[in-house]
Amino acid sequence: MAAKKPATRRPARLRGDALRAHALEIQRRLAATYPDAHCELTHRNPFELAVATVLSAQCTDARVNMVTPELFRRWPTPQALAQASLEAIEAVIKSTGFYRNKAKSILGLAQQVVATHGGEIPTEMDALVRLPGIGRKTANVVLGNAFGRNEGIVVDTHVARLSARFGLTRETDPVKIEQALIPLFPRESWTQLSHLMIWHGRRTCAALRPRCGDCVLVDCCPSAAL
Ligand code: SF4
Repeated sequence: MAAKKPATRRPARLRGDALRAHALEIQRRLAATYPDAHCELTHRNPFELAVATVLSAQCTDARVNMVTPELFRRWPTPQALAQASLEAIEAVIKSTGFYRNKAKSILGLAQQVVATHGGEIPTEMDALVRLPGIGRKTANVVLGNAFGRNEGIVVDTHVARLSARFGLTRETDPVKIEQALIPLFPRESWTQLSHLMIWHGRRTCAALRPRCGDCVLVDCCPSAAL
């Protein structure tokens, strides 16, 4: 029998305190289900995380983790990567897709970090988003996971999809989704919240075949296919 899709009916829309209570209950259950949720991009420092996150666009973390050991073996620092040839970088990262643009981005990122930031990945959102290839989502990944700073909430495809399914927002633009999520969750939990939602999206609430029957949220999710 084909797997049931999530219900398409619109749930009664929660607002204010009821919406915050709903959001916190979801967060509580996900935290209990995935106590080890963490960033799945392998990295040893902010530079490696920034580069790996650029490479993760339209690509799985597992695939990125296959190319970064060689990438960082050959160019272990921003200074080293800034001296690399575009063609050499392209050859190493080719399997991550969109490799020409990604190679340009990480080469430009390394060069700008060396030229403008003394070879150190900046710790401020404003400076991060001025680096090649780094938008707000990537900046949030770096700030939250490399520097322990909860400046915002990472909204990737999983967080966007689950935010809608959970009934947390009807926004579809990632920046607007982030702004809708921010008042619902304690600031100190923003980075971990993204991990929880990403892990749930990967393991249970997939885009095409969510496993509602195995889901810890089935009785409180307005999109559950019962
Ligand atoms: S969160 Fe759970 S119950 Fe809701 S759609 Fe996803 S898998 Fe189904």
